[in-house]
Amino acid sequence: MTHHVNTDHLIDEMSTRAYHAMLNSRALSLEELSTKTEKDMLRIKNVGKKTIKELQSILAKAGLQFKSIPKKRRSEKSIKCRLCGRSGKTELCKNCTALIRSLKVVVKQIAAIVIYKEDQKSESHLKRAGDPGSFNHAK
Ligand SMILES: [Zn+2]
Repeated sequence: MTHHVNTDHLIDEMSTRAYHAMLNSRALSLEELSTKTEKDMLRIKNVGKKTIKELQSILAKAGLQFKSIPKKRRSEKSIKCRLCGRSGKTELCKNCTALIRSLKVVVKQIAAIVIYKEDQKSESHLKRAGDPGSFNHAK
């Protein structure tokens, strides 16, 4: 636990403001403090950028740092949806993908109806062309 002795010494060097910030974050040691993010710390009363900077330099002396937020990096990489412009991970957001899927279904349904109607037309043409002759012959 030589580390513990070292951090104790660093905690003694802290300003009361930084020390209170650490305690208010419910961290009892610098190692515990390093599990917090800067955002976590900024949520604490009376903690500003100045306190954050002081805590950062103290953590650095102990070979530690605030926990980094991986979410930030992800959001920087986000792409805007080509249809609605909403930022996401893909060129089409989930909503637009679902919309396109449902549109494809509708288009298929319309195409099926059109093809069915055209089939009926051509079938009735064939019937009209062929039936009257045989009908006449029967009479
Ligand atoms: Zn979209």
